Amino acid sequence: MSLALQPDSHVASLRAAGLRVTRPRLAVMAALAQAPHAQVEPVVSAVRAEIGSVSVQGVYDVLRVLGGAGLVRRIDLAGAAARYELRAGDNHHHAVCRSCGVTADVDCAVGTVPCLDPGIDPGGLHGFVVDEAEVTYWGYCPACRTDLKERE
Ligand SMILES: [Zn+2]
Ligand SMILES: [Zn+2]
Repeated sequence: MSLALQPDSHVASLRAAGLRVTRPRLAVMAALAQAPHAQVEPVVSAVRAEIGSVSVQGVYDVLRVLGGAGLVRRIDLAGAAARYELRAGDNHHHAVCRSCGVTADVDCAVGTVPCLDPGIDPGGLHGFVVDEAEVTYWGYCPACRTDLKERE
């Protein structure tokens, strides 16, 4: 495995989470470091390029273990396959392009978890105790806005 794809920080993260340091885990983390918000297929391709054969199920298993340890965040957007990223645990949000699907991080509006403390009387939450708030800002990325303008 190339050193560049095996940053010490990933080894440290795995150890800190009490997980064994394995090549598939490091390869998945390296793939997500290079392509945040990736869907599973490009992750599988990157892992195969790095360590040879791995099954799609094997990559899902790694993603599930890393997700359970808080090292990977899974993003589910309406109408799209799940995406994965290493930036986990900070409750940031996403801006998603309606046209090309490019996804960008948007810092949490408030800076704490959960972001959306509604600031309303507790009755407004219908008795729920909120531990996460996901906000998706939908729109058009700069590249797609340029395309739209040129077509006018
Ligand atoms: Zn776009
Ligand atoms: Zn993100």
